[in-house]
Amino acid sequence: MTARANLKDHSIESLRERFAGCGIAPYRAEQVAGWLYQRGVDDLAEMTDLGLELRTRLAAEWETRALEVESVARSRDGTVKASLRARDGALIEAVLIPEDHRTTLCVSTQVGCPLACSFCATGAMGFRRNLAASEIVDQVCRMRELLEPERALTNVVFMGMGEPLLNLPAVTEAIRLLIHPKAFAMAPRRVTVSTVGLVPRIDALLSAVPVNLAVSLHATTDALRDVLVPLNRRYPLATLLAALRESPRITPRRPVFFEYTLIAGVNDSLDDARRLPGLLRGIPGKLNLIPMNAHADSSLAPPSDEVADAFLRELAGAGMTVTLRRSRGPDIDAACGQLALRDGVAAPGPGSGAGRSAGQERAASHRKGSRGTGFALRDR
Ligand code: SAH
Repeated sequence: MTARANLKDHSIESLRERFAGCGIAPYRAEQVAGWLYQRGVDDLAEMTDLGLELRTRLAAEWETRALEVESVARSRDGTVKASLRARDGALIEAVLIPEDHRTTLCVSTQVGCPLACSFCATGAMGFRRNLAASEIVDQVCRMRELLEPERALTNVVFMGMGEPLLNLPAVTEAIRLLIHPKAFAMAPRRVTVSTVGLVPRIDALLSAVPVNLAVSLHATTDALRDVLVPLNRRYPLATLLAALRESPRITPRRPVFFEYTLIAGVNDSLDDARRLPGLLRGIPGKLNLIPMNAHADSSLAPPSDEVADAFLRELAGAGMTVTLRRSRGPDIDAACGQLALRDGVAAPGPGSGAGRSAGQERAASHRKGSRGTGFALRDR
């Protein structure tokens, strides 16, 4: 049996072409998108305005679902992490972050990651494969179903497992659906793609789709960045920063969001802080400091609050736009760099034990729509 193609692998433009090529009226692509993305309906049989004949034909030729919810964990701070299972059994994670005025979804782009940044849990699990566009899009569909009824998704960040620019075709196709008015209809500036700095693909991304760019910086010297982010050996700081400085697509209206994970005794000195303004000069940007989230695969740790505050003050004093990001969902290993699964089971975090399973909710009970007594140990 050959696998059927998935409708969610195609932007509306691409689906119009596919349909035209097999004798289906192109406007049917918009109709299908309305059901899949605006109404959240995956069952072709329910798409009544398509007509019975077309519904039957599409159902025979196409899939509409790529991911199912495997398990859900809810943090005390409202963050929701879900493990999602793909058709081939691969598990990935996505995280919902509700805040006062927005609700952000963090999506994965690869199963694992080949770039092996030394402080990242995903990097430690190695690389299995790229996700298909349908598997990126279905993270949005499945996670949206986990939102409280009064909440709507306002932002999507490509900051989950994997390096988005190593999976550019699927990432751009998924983004086209996120921002298309007849699909998810999100404002492009509410979509952010994070990269460790795959220099030759940055412009390809920004010229394909008008989204925000985030760059994981983490060090102020090549000697240190070579160790923390091994891709730096191929694209060192000067090359990366020159590319950003020269990109016509990065402007004060579309600045770069630099991420800097603060790691105790590694990159948190005042000398580091003093080097940053000079390094980033001439690049419209903002800097986000993220205290390292500890996890089982690394002995690295975050600095004390005093050290983080001093780092922040040094940068603010130098006139930089800088924020210190509060970590979300650390009690369920949902924070930056904590997404990792091994052998199909979520990796335990530091200090985790049976007690931590209080936050684990089984998918089965969730599907019934009741949280009730659904809190239970995962059965794998
Ligand atoms: N591969 C892309 C997309 C993932 S974004 C990238 O790295 O940019 C995930 C962010 O979390 C990155 O900025 C990453 O460096 C950061 N991160 C990874 N491990 C972390 C950890 N243990 N604590 C805090 N941040 C971490």
